[in-house]
Amino acid sequence: MTPIYLDYASTATLLPEVAEAMRPYWTERFGNPASAHSFGRQARRAVEDARELIAHLLDAFPDETVFTSGATEANNWALASLPLPKDAIVVASPLEHPSVDEPLRFLHKRGLQLHHLPVTHDGSVAVADTILDKLSSVDLLVVMLVNNETGVTQPVAELAQRFGEKVRHFHCDAVQAAGKLPVRFHDLGVTTLSVSAHKFHGPRGIGALLIRRGTRIEPLLRGGHQQLGRRPGTEPVPLIVGMAKALELAEKHREEHWNHVRNLRSCFLDRLQRSASPIHVNGDLDRSIPHIVNVSFPGCPGDLLLARLDLAGLACSTGSACSSGSLLPSPVLRAMNLAEDRLKSALRFSFSHLTTETEVVSAAQVIADTVSALRNPQTTPGNPSRTSRKPIE
Ligand code: PMP
Repeated sequence: MTPIYLDYASTATLLPEVAEAMRPYWTERFGNPASAHSFGRQARRAVEDARELIAHLLDAFPDETVFTSGATEANNWALASLPLPKDAIVVASPLEHPSVDEPLRFLHKRGLQLHHLPVTHDGSVAVADTILDKLSSVDLLVVMLVNNETGVTQPVAELAQRFGEKVRHFHCDAVQAAGKLPVRFHDLGVTTLSVSAHKFHGPRGIGALLIRRGTRIEPLLRGGHQQLGRRPGTEPVPLIVGMAKALELAEKHREEHWNHVRNLRSCFLDRLQRSASPIHVNGDLDRSIPHIVNVSFPGCPGDLLLARLDLAGLACSTGSACSSGSLLPSPVLRAMNLAEDRLKSALRFSFSHLTTETEVVSAAQVIADTVSALRNPQTTPGNPSRTSRKPIE
């Protein structure tokens, strides 16, 4: 079977139109945007046009939009460099990506006070009756816009509205939202926001940190005047041009893509319900983007199921941290307080507008067959017994 890719939340293919927009900036328009000659001016214009377009599409100002190597850098930069006291009071969602969670834990070891918000079974942080009500002021609030493992949207604007007065800075990782949901930087009420191009069919290695006007943020890198000294280093012009083109296309077709992907998700889940029962969907579908769905297959260890599906030609993800060959149940699903079997048998499937109905129908069939073989090892000829594998965890 032709391999099926249902891992678009991990990375998405570069669209041909995006590759085409980037092409001249690798070749004939190769100038350094910092150079004072015509080649440099041409490159500078491309960078500033892209910055303007991206800012416009995210409802930010161009001078609030700083290119980075991706969202890992943007998240680390914001958390390490917002003007916070050493013992700052920070409240964060426990559902954050490691590029947010780990810097926060690192800063916590150095004195920052870290509190986590409670999470509902539905996969969203709670807005009411949390530590935010008890604290009189918060130096930094950190909540992502869409969770990368479940697709559940988080109440970022609601939190900003409710606690705006007492929260000094609000950082939002909008990586899985940009290009899929409207991301309106100013309306969200956050101080900084990160995005990454390869999640919306742009190139890898480019992203941006939006920084609200008037916010003092130290550069992470030093040694150049580029991007007003906030992020020194020669700008990767082709990647920046590609990011702008990809976001423009994603925004232009956002609703049409959303509807297509929502139909795919329904078709996929209907088929799984019928042929791979029992299954559990982790996260509230009504509050999720349809591009990501997290499903548990009780009785099937997630890592083994993932490997079998890969052998059968289906690429998806566990969304869990694998270390030294053992599967650590996802901290995101753990925070949702799911039962152990559900935690350990969860897989993430993620779709794009390029995914077809034929693909999701075949994928559901492959999953049903693989799940059935794992659940009934004795009745499946040629299926190696679980006992021959290393135990999990
Ligand atoms: N945040 C989230 C929510 C993500 O899903 C990812 C990518 N997995 C990142 C941050 C990191 O983005 P990048 O690959 O651009 O470093």
